[in-house]
Amino acid sequence: MTAVETTTPDAVYEGSSVELRDLSLAYGDVAVVRDVSLTVAPGTTTCVIGPSGSGKSTLLRGINRLHDPASGDVQVAGRSVLGDKPDDLRLRIGMVFQHFNLFPDHTALENVALAPWKVKGLSKAEARRLAEERLREVGLGERMDHRPRDLSGGQQQRVAIARALAMRPEVMLFDEATSALDPELVKGVLRLMAELCERGMTMVVVTHEMGFARKVADQVVFMDEGEVVESGTPEQIFDHPRSARLQTFLSEVL
Ligand code: ADP
Ligand code: MG
Repeated sequence: MTAVETTTPDAVYEGSSVELRDLSLAYGDVAVVRDVSLTVAPGTTTCVIGPSGSGKSTLLRGINRLHDPASGDVQVAGRSVLGDKPDDLRLRIGMVFQHFNLFPDHTALENVALAPWKVKGLSKAEARRLAEERLREVGLGERMDHRPRDLSGGQQQRVAIARALAMRPEVMLFDEATSALDPELVKGVLRLMAELCERGMTMVVVTHEMGFARKVADQVVFMDEGEVVESGTPEQIFDHPRSARLQTFLSEVL
């Protein structure tokens, strides 16, 4: 585990468990996620795969309460979070989106320092120091004063990851974090995500990158039409798919 030995103690994470119990999510009367039960052990990575429209993004949004459940429960670190204020929960759960959602008029450093300063109440100097650390950790030590438009898509996504990490989250959610990137930039971001996993972060990753899921995931979850159809180890899901729906999906994407 040289990655751990060569980084600062700050860069070792203590991920929390996530448990979904019979979670259903709806838009109006239409249930788009139905009765999903899922256990993500602390410090492990779960990859969620499935066709477009199967409810993957909605499921992620249910975990950090961007979308409130119609029924069921979400537990983080063994405790239901449904009674918590969504804003408080989002301090504990970082999320990274397909379109990086950075503040365009702020530098990389400011993008990362802003929430620790404004939301967590660190002094400006402390927030800057923290942001510098996180940006170095994601390989952007030389680009801290650049604005998003002067960074590549891969670099912008790393700023977004650094920004989430600066809040010291217990869990990180990734929603197709590499789908908007040029192919040559995808690898670097996936490598960074694999590193976070090695350092103990709990991660739920919606992805089309089957190679990443196979290599990095502790658990792979296949969703279709709002349901978890199958879940298991990468070997079980990719090498021994049981359901016709998963077999069809894999034949289309692999
Ligand atoms: P995925 O991420 O797997 O592509 P989504 O979670 O985005 O799937 O969508 C699941 C279903 O919910 C789809 O049928 C989609 O059309 C529907 N949906 C997504 N967002 C909304 C919305 N804001 N209002 C109504 N329906 C939505
Ligand atoms: Mg989606």
